Amino acid sequence: PFLIDQIAAGEVVERPASVVKELVENALDAGARRIQIATAGGGKTLLRVTDDGNGIPREELRLAVRRHCTSKLSGGLDKIATLGFRGEALPSIGSVARLSVASRAKGADDAFEVVVEAGHCEGPKPAALTKGTVVEVRGLFQSVPARLKFLKSDRAEAQAITETVKRLAIAFPGVRFELSGPDRSRTLFEAVAPEAALTRIGAVVGEDFAENAVEIDAERDGVFLSGFAGLPTFNRGNSLAQYFYVNGRPVRDRTLVSALAGAYADMVAKGRYGVAVLFIELDPALVDVNVHPAKADVRFRDPGLVRGLIVGALREAFAREGV
Ligand code: ADP
Ligand code: MG
Repeated sequence: PFLIDQIAAGEVVERPASVVKELVENALDAGARRIQIATAGGGKTLLRVTDDGNGIPREELRLAVRRHCTSKLSGGLDKIATLGFRGEALPSIGSVARLSVASRAKGADDAFEVVVEAGHCEGPKPAALTKGTVVEVRGLFQSVPARLKFLKSDRAEAQAITETVKRLAIAFPGVRFELSGPDRSRTLFEAVAPEAALTRIGAVVGEDFAENAVEIDAERDGVFLSGFAGLPTFNRGNSLAQYFYVNGRPVRDRTLVSALAGAYADMVAKGRYGVAVLFIELDPALVDVNVHPAKADVRFRDPGLVRGLIVGALREAFAREGV
């Protein structure tokens, strides 16, 4: 199982930012209202995610770090309501790092901790924690030099972590996010909660974006599009400043990127990108979110429909503004 976990780790955890994504999604799935992320060395030395969610009962702690032990598949694969569902993240992380999970389940009198090192699990043993869960990942890929050498500089990895947290922060304006250095003294990103969606978007993308954006609200054949699109005259865009969500999940998808490019075609200068935050809601049966374990990719049943919806809605909104 250790080797299988290491192979799975190659798909689920590519870099520190993918670990952060998995851990924060777990916290969100557990109903957390406040999520603190601490990092050191671009996440290679340390990643710690602290949440105030429902926690993990003592008897489930060991299972949580074992392969395919998800508590989230009650509805079946086609009815995925939570962000996680494969039960692969923690075992994968535990196979390529020192992983500790401390938790106090809601209503429990005590907290417990398990530690996974080189695929070997120890505990549960008592831990000091008043509520929620603390997951700590140390020395990511230190034992897998072949993977380690594909990581970028600490700075670049830290940047990717910040991007990941920002993307999730937009999707969950009711949750407080705090990203910091190892001792929480150096805040790298913070979003207070609860915030109105646009306030949160302003906090993440920039106040200037919030002021230069038009609201998008459209529907076509049961596919709903909402969000905000920067006016073509708002010329700050780079390719990172595009935020897409499908049924509440942050995604990176070629259909969406290309649709957005189409909506702004001939309206922004060469080398510039439209800035937008777009939420797409559709029947889960019409989109496959199960393409890749990291779950950032999606496959629409009808990409043409989604593209037409985006281009049409943005062009219409720009026209209304006289652009
Ligand atoms: P998945 O999220 O796909 O179910 P993971 O490997 O990410 O799989 O997590 C395994 C299990 O551990 C989850 O199903 C959940 O029951 C539990 N778990 C992990 N992180 C947390 C957390 N922060 N709070 C509560 N439960 C958690
Ligand atoms: Mg998960």
